[in-house]
Amino acid sequence: MMNMMTKPESRYDVLFEPVKIGPVTAPNRFYQVPHASGMTNALPRVRAAFREAKAEGGWGVICTGACSIDLSSDDAPLPMATMWDDNDIKAHALMTDAVHKHGSLAGVELWHGGASVMNRSSRVAPISPSGIPWMATHVGFMGNLRPRSMDRQDIKDVLRWQAEGARKARTAGFDIVYVYAGMGYLGYEFLLPEYNHRIDEYGGSIANRVRFVREMIEVTKDAVGEHCGVALRISLEELRAKLGTHHPSEAHEVIELLSDVPDLFDVKMDSSPTDCSASRFTGEGSHEPVIDFVKSLTSKPVVGVGRFTSPDTMVSQIRRGVLDLIGGARPSIADPFLPNKIREGRIDEIRECIGCNICISSWHDGVPVRCTQNPTAGEEWRRGWHPENAGKADKPERVLIVGGGPAGLEAALTLGRRGHEVTLADSRASFGGRLTFEKTLPGLAAWNRVVDYRLGRLNEMTNVSMYLESTLGVDEIVDLAPDHVLLATGSRWTNMLYSPMEIPVGRVEHPNVFTPDDIAAGRLPEGPTLVFDFDNYYMGGVITEHLAALGIPVSYATPAGQASAWTLMTNELPLVHRALTRRNVTVTTLQTVSAFDGETVTLSQIFTGEKQTVQCRNLVIVGLRMPNDDLFNALELRTGEIDAAGIKSVRRIGDALAPGAIAHAVHNGHLAARELGLGPLGFRRDAPIVEFEPAFTSVAGLLEA
Ligand code: ADP
Ligand code: SF4
Repeated sequence: MMNMMTKPESRYDVLFEPVKIGPVTAPNRFYQVPHASGMTNALPRVRAAFREAKAEGGWGVICTGACSIDLSSDDAPLPMATMWDDNDIKAHALMTDAVHKHGSLAGVELWHGGASVMNRSSRVAPISPSGIPWMATHVGFMGNLRPRSMDRQDIKDVLRWQAEGARKARTAGFDIVYVYAGMGYLGYEFLLPEYNHRIDEYGGSIANRVRFVREMIEVTKDAVGEHCGVALRISLEELRAKLGTHHPSEAHEVIELLSDVPDLFDVKMDSSPTDCSASRFTGEGSHEPVIDFVKSLTSKPVVGVGRFTSPDTMVSQIRRGVLDLIGGARPSIADPFLPNKIREGRIDEIRECIGCNICISSWHDGVPVRCTQNPTAGEEWRRGWHPENAGKADKPERVLIVGGGPAGLEAALTLGRRGHEVTLADSRASFGGRLTFEKTLPGLAAWNRVVDYRLGRLNEMTNVSMYLESTLGVDEIVDLAPDHVLLATGSRWTNMLYSPMEIPVGRVEHPNVFTPDDIAAGRLPEGPTLVFDFDNYYMGGVITEHLAALGIPVSYATPAGQASAWTLMTNELPLVHRALTRRNVTVTTLQTVSAFDGETVTLSQIFTGEKQTVQCRNLVIVGLRMPNDDLFNALELRTGEIDAAGIKSVRRIGDALAPGAIAHAVHNGHLAARELGLGPLGFRRDAPIVEFEPAFTSVAGLLEA
């Protein structure tokens, strides 16, 4: 019989066991792996608070993103951390102190980018094993300075920078220090024969190619190994595809050669689209086929990722001997409190990552991370937003929200949590707004977690009333006479065309012109169809896939250089093209639509104006979205009645204010709920720490450069 004084065994208890990492011990198996946050050393307080939220939420290890060890590893203008001087130490110490407050370990991903960085800011020639550059095809990563080959002194220098970086990291309070050999960066370049053509002891055989990484780990251990765990982060995708001499692959051989050297293996894929793949194309646990062998070749703990949000999947990874620590980047952004929720049995309350990769787009944009599911991400210090606690309102008020899409649902949830009396009404038969249709499109089912999470919590609240099939106009709003009105009425797609000035201009009026709203309403084209996309995010590509899946002969045209061009930012672009090709869709780029008569579409090349015609009976335009603000405008005209009804404020939120990605709508709904009754709250602007006058000698390598 169970002793009534002890906690019942939970099948998730294994996730809360401590794990030894060299001289330090992780308090549990939840490991926030290094991930880009867009928060450089210029935003030290924003960064510390962002990482602290996860420590508070139960993640046992919290790591920085890539942290440069020398100015020859300079990714600017992409955001990166640095460990170059005493000011950097101070900046990082804010984060380690914040993490330690909650009993978690702090890790730092020391990093040298090798040939993958362009050193745009430092202007020193990038270094590489053999002068082989990364010839990126996308503008943000293209460079016009090729790397130089490293000589023996360069190798010694990098080893010294790594050791110095490790010592600085320890001074900053880090418990785990990384050597990075992944994602095309310097260590990885030594491992891969495509990059490494050296004829000395660092090139050739696999044992030689591993030498640089081994020495990087050894110097790190010598510098800090008595006090800090030393982790190796390594990409195994390409190596696993290469036949080994004594083992099935070179990945096996590398892990065997290094099996005792680091205190922890952090294993991953090689490129952002496969490492951080979007849910549209890849499911949970997608790394397993590449990394599943690692634990069989080492006794050291292994951490890996896979957008794990299900505790059962996590337990299965441990029980089946795939991983020792459950790595999380996106799941920890979407829900910093994921571990605590599992420990407390609040599984339904997990705010599961939807795999949209808006977080990654923030890094490409060079700004602090934003998240579709978690509107507080990146706002912890700046706006003082806690991910789980929005604070109680001084005075509960009656709030009417019109529209139950992402913006309305988030506003209702946050207002409900703040103790207000909330009424949420939507015209439709179900809540979810745009996601009611979008979740049915190829690959987008997981996006509905935005709705599921919020509806689940709202259904538990007694101070929130929800009404479906309730279209509200001015009269109804005046009759209800709430204290405040939030209009979350969404947006609509228009049939506007596009001009060489890169603005929406003109329309084609024809019964066979469609927008995504028509398709959502079930009005489907019959016969050959062209999708013309100048929205550039996912909708054009995914609607094309949807129509093709329905058996409609469909082709795709865009004024951009690629299909769904902005999805480069979310790592989806290569897979969008692959998906369209698999569905036999012809993709035409750099074209605008200049005419359509129900039988042919005329396309014009955007630079030359050269015309071509395409036979098609239907044209689907995925271009400009405009707010559904008729209700707002009608209310504006009747302010006398609004005032007489005692309505204190009317505010548009989400797409009804400014159409955008779901992340914008959720953030805006959250903001409105926080500000209700208080007015604009503003935010704090972070600033770099400059306690020490920067000196030449404090930056390794500067004198030589
Ligand atoms: P957002 O992304 O900003 O949340 P959505 O387009 O997803 O916007 O959702 C808008 C929701 O508002 C839709 O579900 C729509 O049915 C609802 N809606 C629009 N106008 C009204 C109205 N007058 N009364 C009630 N619901 C409305
Ligand atoms: Fe997940 Fe999207 Fe949030 Fe990134 S932005 S953590 S992918 S929900």
